Amino acid sequence: MLKGSDLLSKVKESGDISKSDLVRSCGYVSTLRDGAERLEFEAFNEALLEAKGVRIPLSSLPGTSDLLPVETPLWQRIEATARDHFRRAAIGEIRTPLLEATELFKRGIGEATDVVGKEMYTFLDRGERSCTLRPEGTASVVRAAIQHGLLAKGPQRLWYGGPMFRYERPQKGRRRQFHQIGVELLGVADATSDAEAIAIAWDLLADLGVAGLQLEINSLGTPEDRQRYRAELVSWLEAHHDQLDPDSQNRISTNPLRVLDSKNPDTQALLAGAPTLADALAGESHERFARVRQALEALGIPFVLNPRLVRGLDYYGHTAFEITSNQLGAQATVCGGGRYDGLVEQLGGPATPAVGWALGMERLVLLLSQPTASEPAAAGATDLYVISRGEVAEAQALVLTRLARQAGLAAERDASGSAFGKQFKRADRSGAPWAAVIGDSEAADGVALLKDLRGEQPERRIPQQQLVAELLGVAGGRSRGA
Ligand code: ATP
Ligand code: MG
Repeated sequence: MLKGSDLLSKVKESGDISKSDLVRSCGYVSTLRDGAERLEFEAFNEALLEAKGVRIPLSSLPGTSDLLPVETPLWQRIEATARDHFRRAAIGEIRTPLLEATELFKRGIGEATDVVGKEMYTFLDRGERSCTLRPEGTASVVRAAIQHGLLAKGPQRLWYGGPMFRYERPQKGRRRQFHQIGVELLGVADATSDAEAIAIAWDLLADLGVAGLQLEINSLGTPEDRQRYRAELVSWLEAHHDQLDPDSQNRISTNPLRVLDSKNPDTQALLAGAPTLADALAGESHERFARVRQALEALGIPFVLNPRLVRGLDYYGHTAFEITSNQLGAQATVCGGGRYDGLVEQLGGPATPAVGWALGMERLVLLLSQPTASEPAAAGATDLYVISRGEVAEAQALVLTRLARQAGLAAERDASGSAFGKQFKRADRSGAPWAAVIGDSEAADGVALLKDLRGEQPERRIPQQQLVAELLGVAGGRSRGA
């Protein structure tokens, strides 16, 4: 396969390039970085069209993915299981826009965070408004709760799901458009609520069959605790400035607590000697954290204390937690969350304690696609496969298929017009237990042959108008739709 640059020079020399070679070489575009290289590709594509009458097919943007029909059954299973858990936990669904005012995330998540500082998809719309594709769900949910006066009606138990957008370096388990499912409990202050929120995530993941899970928790205390700790940490970091990685050096002045979360192994090793947040917590914060741990123990949910766990968003205080899997490599965190008592007020609402979490669908899907987990085959969902050949027969097959669907059956029509043998092969592969066959002679009589594809029942000629009722009655026991 030709590399993009070789391809370009070959075209410039109007060398001999087959169309298929060109198309195979297109994988090249998805590897392009943004900026000059991408512009060069676009110019190349135009030049190619002019020179050869060939246009290279475009790929999806880096860090975005298509979910194909072979993949969506697992996504649907996760979503259905989550919905069922939320129903049983009396949590209602909220859907907020994907697009929000940029200000919401700046104020909510914090300007010094990675998310706001360098990961947001922000642009001016045609009304010169600064808009941002949501990078997370909590700020939007809180905005909506304030905007619609939900908080005056008592505690709110909400869940959301859908795409989020962050301009990150794409890799396994890290996408630019990714998907989260999240829960927000607004208006609940007690330590038991922290444990309840965690239990909802834990039980969902366990029910889905995720293996190798670990819950890590920490307390970030009150804003005063963190203020006190920040001062201590900054002087320690400054004393060790030269041993830190450059990213962490920069964070000393912008967001020193985030240094604790550094992914750099040398920095992590060094931090073993840093003062911990736990030592800086006031007595009340300690007591509160102890109550959270007791509640988790009472629920039988195992946890590990991680004194360096800080979340990437500024709004967290007191409980912070992550659920990780030992099967995910570098992107180990499946679910993250914590308490955010200050956020509602910060966004202009009434002072409201709250706790919540978000889980990453892509990472969950990676975990559940491991060879150990077995996914029920998506095939076999069809009840009736309709086979026809000839103009009149095909028109009748279309009507019959629709009748079957209107009666609640899953029906698939072979529209290929190919030989009966080929259509039967496809019927077999579809997993359908029954086939209805209409050829020229059946079409002339207004009947169809009902064939039992998996069992022993003899083939029957049935008027097309009655076929669906027959199928629902006679074959009802073996037909899923019945
Ligand atoms: P990380 O430390 O992995 O960057 P984060 O702290 O930025 O995670 P949160 O904002 O807490 O993540 O989001 C909750 C969950 O959403 C994460 O635990 C992860 O499973 C998922 N997630 C976050 N960013 C991405 C991404 N770019 N691609 C895929 N999943 C993501
Ligand atoms: Mg991140």
